[in-house]
Amino acid sequence: MKILVINTGSSSVKFKLYDMPAKVLLCEGQIERIGEPEGRLMFTHYLKSGTDDIVLQDTFEDQQQGLNKIAALLLDPDRGLVSHPGEIGAVGHRVVHGGEDFHEATLITPKVTAKIAHLVPLAPLHNPANLKGIRTAMQVFPQARQVAVFDTAFHQTLPEHAFRYAIPNDLYREHGLRVYGMHGTSHQYVAEQGAQHIDKPLDTCNFITIHLGNGCSMAAIENGKSIDTSMGLSPLPGLVMGTRSGDIDPAVIFYLCRHLKMTADQVDRLLNKESGLKGLTGSNDLRDIVRQAASGHQASLLAIHMYTYRIRKYIGAYAAILGRLDGVIFTAGVGENSVLIREKSCEGLSMLGITLDTQLNEQKTQGIREIQSPDSAVKLLIIPTNEELEIARQTYRLLS
Ligand code: ADP
Repeated sequence: MKILVINTGSSSVKFKLYDMPAKVLLCEGQIERIGEPEGRLMFTHYLKSGTDDIVLQDTFEDQQQGLNKIAALLLDPDRGLVSHPGEIGAVGHRVVHGGEDFHEATLITPKVTAKIAHLVPLAPLHNPANLKGIRTAMQVFPQARQVAVFDTAFHQTLPEHAFRYAIPNDLYREHGLRVYGMHGTSHQYVAEQGAQHIDKPLDTCNFITIHLGNGCSMAAIENGKSIDTSMGLSPLPGLVMGTRSGDIDPAVIFYLCRHLKMTADQVDRLLNKESGLKGLTGSNDLRDIVRQAASGHQASLLAIHMYTYRIRKYIGAYAAILGRLDGVIFTAGVGENSVLIREKSCEGLSMLGITLDTQLNEQKTQGIREIQSPDSAVKLLIIPTNEELEIARQTYRLLS
C-alpha cells in the first residue's frame, strides 16, 4: 500500500510517500512560504539510479493549491510513482494536539475532525493548519483513507500526578489545562528503535529520550511508556530551544504585562519566537552558536552552557523518577549532529552511571550509534528520528 504522509503547517506542507509495509521512501518534498508571493517547492524522487530533484519558485495561495501541485507531481505519468489517485491507500496526517481524546493513530471521520477543531484553543497555531491539510487531502485524494497521528498521543500514558498542574481543579476539569507534551511520535519512534537495538522488549525498557531540533523536549520512558515529558500544555516549557524560552517563572509574564504593558499576544510572540537561543545570541541555529563560541563569543558560550545545563537537570530528574535506566537517547538535528552539545549534556553524570566516550561521540557515522564509555552502566545512543516513517507505520498498522 502506498501511504502519503503530510505535515501541514501555517505556511508550509511537508510530504513523504512510502511503499508500506516495505518502508520504502519513494519521494519527498516540501512547499514553503505558502501565502507569500515567493513560494518554493522542493521535491526529490528516489530512483534506483539516484535521485531526481526539483526546486521550483511559484506562488502558492493556500494549502489546497500546494497539495494540488504535490498531487500533480505524484501522478505525473512520466515519473511512474502513482498511476492513479486510488493507488494511494491512505494519507497519514501529523496532528499536533489530540488533547485527552486521542491515545493512538485514528481514522479520520467527521467526528474526529470536529474534535480536532474543538482542541484549537489548546494549539491555536498548529491545529487549524493541520485541519486545513486534512480537509484538502480529502478533496485531492478522495479514495484514500485519512488517518491522524497526534504529537500528544504517546504522552497520554503520563500518570495524573505528572500531568496535572497545581492550580484549582476546575481549570483542569472544565478547560483541560494540564501537561500534554509534544514530539510524541519522535519519542516513540526512537524508543522503539532503541529497544530493538539493545535487543530487549520495549515494555521492559527504561529510557530518557532527548529530542533536540528547533523545538526541544525530553521524555522519561518506563517500560516503554512515557511517564513524564518536558513540554506541557503547549510546546513552550522545558528545555532551552531555538526560539522558545523553555521553563521560566510565570511571574516574568506578569511583569511583562504590568510594567512593560505588553499584550498577551506580544508575550506569546516574545516567548515562542524571540527567546531561547535566538534571544540569547541573535541566532537560533546551533551551528552558528558553536562557531561563535569557538572564537570566544561570550553570549554564545553562555547560551551553550544554559542549553546543556537544562538538559542535565532534566536527565537528573528523570533518572530519579525512573530509578533504573537502560539508555539515554539523543535525536533530531542537534541531538544527532552536535558533538559539543552531547558532550556537555553528559558532563558530571557518572554518579547516575552515565559516562560518555569522547572519541565515539566524535565519530561521524550514520545510523544508530553507541557513544558510552566501556564502564558506563547506561547506554548512550544516537538514534536518527523519523517521524514521517513512524506516521506511515502507525497508519499502516491501523488500516491492516
Ligand atoms: P526541526 O525541529 O525544525 O525539525 P531539526 O530536527 O531539523 O529541526 O533540527 C534543526 C536544528 O538542528 C537546526 O536549528 C540546527 O541548529 C541543528 N543542527 C543541524 N545540524 C547541526 C550540526 N551539525 N551541529 C549543530 N547543530 C546542528
